[in-house]
Amino acid sequence: MVTTAPRTHPGGDPLAPTTRHGVLRRFPPRMEAEYRVFQDTALKPRLRWAMGAAVVVLGVYAVLDVVMMPRAILAEVLAMRIGLMVLPPLLALLASLRVQSGRVLHLLAGWACLNAGLGAVVLVVRTRVLGMPVDYEGVLLLMYVYGCGAVRLRTAVACGTTICVAYPLAEAWAGLPPDALQARTLFIVTTNVIGMVTAWILDQEARGNFLVARQLRGMAHVDFLTGLPNRRDFSERIEAAWKQASAERRPLAIALVDVDWFKAYNDRYGHPAGDRVLRAVAQVLARHASGSGDLVARLGGEEFVCVWYGATAGAARAAADAIHADIAALGVPHAGSDAGRLTLSIGLHVVVPRPDQSRADALYQADQALYAAKAAGRNTTVLGRADGEGDPAPAGRGAAAGGMYEREPGGVS
Ligand code: GH3
Ligand code: MG
Ligand code: MG
Repeated sequence: MVTTAPRTHPGGDPLAPTTRHGVLRRFPPRMEAEYRVFQDTALKPRLRWAMGAAVVVLGVYAVLDVVMMPRAILAEVLAMRIGLMVLPPLLALLASLRVQSGRVLHLLAGWACLNAGLGAVVLVVRTRVLGMPVDYEGVLLLMYVYGCGAVRLRTAVACGTTICVAYPLAEAWAGLPPDALQARTLFIVTTNVIGMVTAWILDQEARGNFLVARQLRGMAHVDFLTGLPNRRDFSERIEAAWKQASAERRPLAIALVDVDWFKAYNDRYGHPAGDRVLRAVAQVLARHASGSGDLVARLGGEEFVCVWYGATAGAARAAADAIHADIAALGVPHAGSDAGRLTLSIGLHVVVPRPDQSRADALYQADQALYAAKAAGRNTTVLGRADGEGDPAPAGRGAAAGGMYEREPGGVS
C-alpha cells in the first residue's frame, strides 16, 4: 500500500512551461506517449475524411479516364486506377469503421497513402508506355500524403520520400528522355521538400497545442500552492476508485487530514510561513499515499485527503501513525498549539464499497471521525465506525460547524 516514492504526474509536471527543444522536437518518452493519445483522439474522424475524400477524388479521375482515354487502353487504365489507387484508401476507410487503436489506424493511413502513391507511379509509367501519359499523378499523391493530416510526420516523410524516389526511377526505367527526366525529378523532389516542411510545421503546431492543453488541464486539476491534485481531480478519481474497489470487493481507507490550530499559526507566523507549512504537509502526505491506486489531494484550505486502496483498518492506522511521526519530525514550532509544534488531526474511515452505497456517505463518516479527533484533543487519528455502527462519538464539532461532507447522496465537489 505505502511506498516511499513521491507521487508524480505521469509524463512530468503538467504545469511545466511549454518549452521547445530542437528542430526535430520529440517529447520525453512518457510525454510522447501522452501526445500520441492526444493526437489519436483526432485521428479517426480525420482519417475517415481524408480516405473518403481520396476515394471520391480518385473516383472522379476514373470517370475522367472513361471520358478521355482511348478505348484500347481504357480497361487497363481503369483497372490500375481502381485497383492500385482507389482500393487502398477505400480499404483504410472501411477498416476505420471497425479498428479502435490509434496506432493501427495511423499505420493503415500510411499504408493506404504509400500504396496509392506507388500505384500512381505505376499508372504514370504504364500510360507513358501505352502512349497516353497521365503525368503529375505522383505529385498529386505526394501532396496528399503530406496534406491529409491522417499520417504522422515520420510516416508521411517515409511514404513521401519513397514515392519521390520511386517515381523518377520508374520514369528512367520506362525510358523518359534525360531532359524531361531531370525536370520531373526536380519537380517531384521540390514538391516532397515543400511537403516535408509543411508537415513539420503542422507537427510543431500540434505539439504546441498539446502542451497548452496539457498545461490548462494541469491548472484545472492541480493545486497551485502544494502541487497536489486538487479537489476537482479528487472528485473524479474517487469515483473511479470507488467503482473499482466495489467491483474487486477491496477496501478503501479514506483519511481526512486537517492541520491543527492553523489559523493561530497564520496569525502568529504570517501567511507565507503558513503556505510553507501546507507545502511541507503535502509532501509528507504524498510520500505516504503513493502506492498504485492510492489517492492524495488538497481539498481546500488546510484540509487534505488520502485514500489507500485495498488497505485494512490496521494498515491505514499504521500509515496515519507514520504521517503523525513525519509531521513531528519536521519539528515546525507552533506556539499557539498545546503540543508546541505543528500537528495534524486525521479522521479515518475504512469501507468495502458496495454498488448501492454512496461514496459521499463514506466521506461523511471520515469527516465525522475527523471531528472526533479534533474533539479528542487534536494531534491524533480517530478510526470511524464501520458501516451500520453510526457516527463516531463524541464529536465536539458537528458537520454543521464546517463539515465538508453531508450525508446526502451526490458528489464530493
Ligand atoms: P482546527 O484545529 O480546529 O482545525 O483549527 P484551525 O485554526 O486549523 O481551523 P480554522 O478553520 O479555524 O482555520 C483554518 C485556517 O486556514 C484559516 C485560513 O486563514 C487558513 N488557510 C486556508 N487556506 C490557506 C492558504 O492557502 N494559506 C495559508 N497560509 N493559510 C490558509
Ligand atoms: Mg485546521
Ligand atoms: Mg479545517
